[in-house]
Amino acid sequence: MIKTDVLVIGGGPCGLAAGIGASKTGATVTILERDSRLGGILMQCIHNGFGLHLFNEELTGPEYAERWMEMLKKEKNINVICDAFCSSLEPTATGYLATAYNSKNLVEVEAKAVVMALGCREKPAGAILLGGTRPAGVFSAGCAQKLINVDGKKVGKRVVILGSGDIGLIMARRLVCEGAEVVGIYEIMSQSGGLARNITQCVQDFNIPLHLSTTVTRVVGKKRVEGVFVAPVNEKLQPIKELEKFVPCDTLLLSVGLIPEIEIAGELGLEFNPVTNSYIVDEYYQTSRAGLFCAGNVLHVNDLVDNVSREGLRAGECAGLFAKGGLDTRNKVEITHDEHIKYTAPKYFYNTKSGEFQVSFRVDKNYKRTIIRAMSGGVEISKRPAPAVTAGEMQALKLDKSKIANDLHLEIEVME
Ligand SMILES: Cc1cc2nc3c(=O)[nH]c(=O)nc-3n(C[C@H](O)[C@H](O)[C@H](O)COP(=O)(O)OP(=O)(O)OC[C@H]3O[C@@H](n4cnc5c(N)ncnc54)[C@H](O)[C@@H]3O)c2cc1C
Repeated sequence: MIKTDVLVIGGGPCGLAAGIGASKTGATVTILERDSRLGGILMQCIHNGFGLHLFNEELTGPEYAERWMEMLKKEKNINVICDAFCSSLEPTATGYLATAYNSKNLVEVEAKAVVMALGCREKPAGAILLGGTRPAGVFSAGCAQKLINVDGKKVGKRVVILGSGDIGLIMARRLVCEGAEVVGIYEIMSQSGGLARNITQCVQDFNIPLHLSTTVTRVVGKKRVEGVFVAPVNEKLQPIKELEKFVPCDTLLLSVGLIPEIEIAGELGLEFNPVTNSYIVDEYYQTSRAGLFCAGNVLHVNDLVDNVSREGLRAGECAGLFAKGGLDTRNKVEITHDEHIKYTAPKYFYNTKSGEFQVSFRVDKNYKRTIIRAMSGGVEISKRPAPAVTAGEMQALKLDKSKIANDLHLEIEVME
């Protein structure tokens, strides 16, 4: 049995930062990672674009992870256990008991506080209404990314991509660079869910057709994909059958969303947010259960890794303080918002009247010109003109607690 102040489950960018944040408080830390190495999803993201905000540099995924691993090595209190799949988390009288296993051993860890940093998994074909057969050649975009970038395999020659989230857009460019033909990206919504920079750099710069309000209805092929049927959708997102057409291809990549890896805490009755499909947290990234923290992609899908690291650091630091008995949870206030905002993370803060905290949120659709406002006690306490706010891009506001009365409401004024 390992005894530790803080247990971090997951050794991706969030877990690395959480481990460092907790260690800086003087807490002892154990990190459990199911893979044979740290770094999480970053290790298969060989494109650049990571770390622009934190390091002011355009790093590749592995380079960004390496920076954090170097920082982790300098901490004396951190015990990293790889090849350890954490399968259960139970509350105890003094904190939590986690059980993990690998091919040889069972690892039990008793901790005063836990940071969940387990990331997301991709939605598979079974999770969407995709008709037809299931031949070889249907991959999730992240799986294809690992096969190409890590294992050096070729996934196909003529590819259709369903879904225009960031992974799909990045993979479209990657496939073209690998000599494949990307016939088209089909997106059921009227706008892409990806970052504007990825649409420009990965799609437009490579002349890849992006078909909005269009979906793949059926897969055709016995042993290998021979093609797919695509159709435009009506306002209820239902395919218009009469306009269905056949697109020959040998590969279909699915980039249709991510599912937070929340199951480990499924029995703990945590306050849940159906919008993010994950748990609700306060400004310390603490869930509704004391000592259990949640950050990074398992909390909500982030578009920038810098934000993931920032959340991880904060969650780890707060978990360390919790383990040492020093987290101030007086005057809990709920953050409310108008109908243009889908959710906020955190949902609660503690009104200690000094210091600042950051609220991240997503809007419901794309807007050309807006003003983002924070109101408290009927007074505007923060205002930011925001041109081109998109549903695909996470927004953030830093708030000064000394300006906040006893409530906090976020709103978006739509100018056009
Ligand atoms: C294809 C792709 C391209 C991206 N491109 C960019 C980009 O250009 N710029 C940018 O800033 N961001 C980008 N991102 C986003 C960024 O990579 C992610 O936001 C970030 O990696 C999320 O970090 P995380 O630690 O929360 O999750 P992950 O990186 O997924 O790490 C989670 C870790 O938890 C481990 N784990 C899960 N379950 C268990 C368990 N039960 N027991 C033990 N360990 C477990 C996993 O093995 C993994 O190592 C991209 C993401 C993807 C997928």
